[in-house]
Amino acid sequence: MAFAGASSLIIVPFDHWEYQIMKGPAGKAILRSEYKPYPWVVKGLKLKFDIGEAETLVSSEIQLKRKPGMDGDSSIELDGQDMALKSVWVDGRELSEDDYSLTSDKLVISDIPSECLLEIRNIIRPQKNTALEGLYPSGQFLLTQCEAEGFRKITYFPDRPDVMTRYEVTIEADKDRYPVLLSNGNAIESGESDNGRHWVRWDDPFHKPSYLFALVAGDLSHIEDTFTTMSGRKVQLRVYVEEENIDRCDYAMESLIRAMKWDEERFGLEYDLDIYNIVATNDFNMGAMENKSLNIFNSRCVLASPDTATDNDFLVVEGVIGHEYFHNWTGNRVTCRDWFQLTLKEGLTVFRDQEFTSDMQSRAVKRIQDARDLRSRQFPEDAGPMSHPIRPDKYVEINNFYTMTVYQKGAAVIRMVHTLLGEDGFQKGMKLYFERHDHQAVTCDDFIAAMADATGTDLGHFSEWYSQSGTPVVQVRAEFNQAARTYTLHMQQHTPPTHGQPQKKALMIPVKTGLIDGNGNELDLSRHGHGHGEENYSAVLILDRDSKTFVFEDMDEEPVPSLLRGFSAPVKLEYDYSDADLALLMAHDNDTFVRWEAAQLLASNAILAQRERISRGEDPVLPETLKTAVRSMLTDLQSDPALLGEALRLPGEDYLAELMEEVDVDGIHQACEFIRKSLAGSLEQEFRACYGRMKDGAAYSNSPEAIGRRCLGNVCLAYLTTRDSAGDLAQRQLESSDNMTDTLAAISALVYSGSDNATAALADFEARWRDNRLVMDKWFSIQAARPSADTVDCLDELMEHPSFSYTNPNKVRAVVGIFAMANPTGFHAAHGRGYEFVADQVIALDKLNPQLAARMASAFNSWKRYDKERRALMAKQLERIQAGSSLSPDVSEIVNNALSE
Ligand SMILES: [Zn+2]
Repeated sequence: MAFAGASSLIIVPFDHWEYQIMKGPAGKAILRSEYKPYPWVVKGLKLKFDIGEAETLVSSEIQLKRKPGMDGDSSIELDGQDMALKSVWVDGRELSEDDYSLTSDKLVISDIPSECLLEIRNIIRPQKNTALEGLYPSGQFLLTQCEAEGFRKITYFPDRPDVMTRYEVTIEADKDRYPVLLSNGNAIESGESDNGRHWVRWDDPFHKPSYLFALVAGDLSHIEDTFTTMSGRKVQLRVYVEEENIDRCDYAMESLIRAMKWDEERFGLEYDLDIYNIVATNDFNMGAMENKSLNIFNSRCVLASPDTATDNDFLVVEGVIGHEYFHNWTGNRVTCRDWFQLTLKEGLTVFRDQEFTSDMQSRAVKRIQDARDLRSRQFPEDAGPMSHPIRPDKYVEINNFYTMTVYQKGAAVIRMVHTLLGEDGFQKGMKLYFERHDHQAVTCDDFIAAMADATGTDLGHFSEWYSQSGTPVVQVRAEFNQAARTYTLHMQQHTPPTHGQPQKKALMIPVKTGLIDGNGNELDLSRHGHGHGEENYSAVLILDRDSKTFVFEDMDEEPVPSLLRGFSAPVKLEYDYSDADLALLMAHDNDTFVRWEAAQLLASNAILAQRERISRGEDPVLPETLKTAVRSMLTDLQSDPALLGEALRLPGEDYLAELMEEVDVDGIHQACEFIRKSLAGSLEQEFRACYGRMKDGAAYSNSPEAIGRRCLGNVCLAYLTTRDSAGDLAQRQLESSDNMTDTLAAISALVYSGSDNATAALADFEARWRDNRLVMDKWFSIQAARPSADTVDCLDELMEHPSFSYTNPNKVRAVVGIFAMANPTGFHAAHGRGYEFVADQVIALDKLNPQLAARMASAFNSWKRYDKERRALMAKQLERIQAGSSLSPDVSEIVNNALSE
């Protein structure tokens, strides 16, 4: 699965159902150490869905064979929740209720032959399912979401990833209402039945776990194309959407074709079926789902056209289409043994989609964006009450572990493997991994073993990254010895204790390093004792103990170290750079990540210093070094505008909060505002000139170059609109804009600067786009993100807008998610109404969609890092949520962890 950009349960809709409904189990922890293989082999599975107006009858034929050596126990245990069991048959004989036991989440049949045909009939009510897992409605169609444990809400089955089998699926439904009937694999037969109904039979020749099962039924339109694989297989590609969206699918299709080609060229991996279908839905908890040959996508990760989608939206579409496609090998052909191994498929596939985007777009910009994302979202997660290793040891609700840690830090761990082995070594490892494990459900250890064995590398110590949570801190100290002509880097590491894991070990940390002399030249490290005689401007220094020393010989002068190049490890690196060092790195470092990082450090040092002055009651000042650095960026005509844009953006307030022991919400915000306004004031001419260069009237294009120009231009605009004298710029941009990126940048500038034109701009936008759900999400988000203590007071009104829907996760994220996660000034306002609002939403949402409610509840995770008053206010709201009746395991796991010591 892929993330959406920003979880047994009692399903409300089943309240008045005439059958006996089994309620979900109470949440209890599941441990990785307790894994046991399933005693049965499922040799084949036939499923039949009779879709009705209110009820769907699911009939399954499961061919079972007990595994050798498992003879002791003749019973079988199947998962199943929130459904009504109609009948159970074994080898043609119907069982009586005495032959099995039915609990809230299991069907256990006590005595069945070691090889038999098990037939089950059960009834589900998809049209009433609001949880967006299992089979559920979206608009005029029905669809499934089974990862992680949604299949057990469809029928009784061993719903675990290590049970793989061949699926044959027959879907029957009313032909007018559900003209399109899709499942995995190839459509092998179809026909008409009575009463205006029709049916289609699908066969998926590849054995798969239940979480990859998918079904779609409804009235959908599609676009079509083909791709011929490297061995000459012609694949039919389709993107299915609701009719109103048919003109916004082309970019998704182009991205799919690029992804298929890229995976052949970079990884030698080819698609393996004749059909590849993508279906877009408005109602989806995550970003997208990689079901075998039938991907299901949140429509925001499919639909894009220049008038409706920003540059970032296009990047998301390409990246997520790639991500789900790449899962066909890393996830589907080789899958996870159990859900603790989730990062096996997700970390690896995120790494692959990051590489895809890097090869298609700007590698430098992508690296910076991923590093920023990891630091501002994963680092806090890893320091909070839900901290867990990328391979967790326990969970209550697996849905809560689709996290930045498993995905983004997981990808960073794979990237370290790539750094250690090099591209050739990494590809050898991948090849061996597929040779050994194709069609298997395996573990992270199996992956590391393939990487190690293929290259003869010892990754034993490295694999601790899978077990240890928390963000390591690497402290670096430099020492230059004039007499001995040596330059020494002393590195030491420590990882602060995390929730549930007080003791930490030294990890194996690759610190990619370069040295730069006083004139800004990169030193050839092979001449200073590092590397193998070839020119070598970066060395990967391996810090694999608590502390280690690296000596560079034959040094004429003391260099400036360029550390953690390319963000080579997910760590916090501390080195006492002077402002002059940072200015040198910004100007001369060949590594774009370090250049960007130098700019960020200069800015964050300045902001935090001014915050301190403000807290002491002194007037803040604009440091001259920062002003000089920003001026040099604004007048830089050589560098990539996209990189300059990234470097000019001030560090996020969430990231700055990370750097403080106790978060000073107001102080950080005031200091950021001060620095932004002061820079805009003292460099107004430079900002205007740069803005003018970027907005030179060229027609819209989505080339990386044009995207970079829009990025830098709009960063300048955001600075300039803090000045009254530049207030009309945003309005003029809004009026002349021919694309969503510039339009949104202009409206945001108007809204966040408190312009008199803001209200009219929002009203015009709403009038033009009120019928477009995805675009309206942006309208909601801009308002929910307005950094002000009174923003909370307009949220209720936003949620009463006709375009808002409480059952649509994109809408909830656009208002509640953005406010809680991306608006620290609003959420943490001292009056506490922000906390109360979010807690209200968590409580209400938990009845409809526990997964989403749990995500919103996690906004309180870092509550202990705030001042006494805010801590008390947040604790009160957490306790209020906790005290609610029939809380889902999803939300209770988050809240209980947050409140526990
Ligand atoms: Zn995924």
